[in-house]
Amino acid sequence: MADKVRLGLIQLCGCSGCHISLLDLHEQLLDVLPHLDIVYAPIIADAKEIPECDVFLIEGGVRNEHDEHLVHEIREKSKVVIAWGSCAVYGGIPGLGNLYSSEQLKETVYGTVTTDNIGELPSDEIVPPLTDSVMPVPSIVDVEYVIPGCAPKPALNAAAIVALLEGREPELPKKIVCDE
Ligand code: SF4
Repeated sequence: MADKVRLGLIQLCGCSGCHISLLDLHEQLLDVLPHLDIVYAPIIADAKEIPECDVFLIEGGVRNEHDEHLVHEIREKSKVVIAWGSCAVYGGIPGLGNLYSSEQLKETVYGTVTTDNIGELPSDEIVPPLTDSVMPVPSIVDVEYVIPGCAPKPALNAAAIVALLEGREPELPKKIVCDE
């Protein structure tokens, strides 16, 4: 196995379920964690800049201009990019938003008057401008691998991580939409 693989993890328009699926590696985590240098992840509070990475796992699709910017930066700085989970690979459940216009979505989410919200739409400084649709990561940048599934099967996560640590091609199925 490689001594250390610099690994980045990011959540875009997703629910964190793909990240949680990593914990389902259970005791296999003990084998792989010593070989991973996790340099960017949602749980690393001070990770501001996208660093140079060997492998970057992207959870979630692209929903706004900031997501799009991040995906391009990750592509530039990573040797291997993996679209991770059905939201990243296909758009997933957030892709249902594509049935409506961005303006309709913003109005529904932010335009409702509640006890602590007077129904004003946020400025672009507060909420990045939405893209016209939710876009799968591979439609924005080239990726080396896709790991579909909602959430991805732990066996697929393990197959990808272990193979990359061992410097060989992961054996991933060509097509998976849902678990079992
Ligand atoms: Fe959540 Fe499923 Fe999307 Fe992963 S693929 S972010 S588990 S909805």
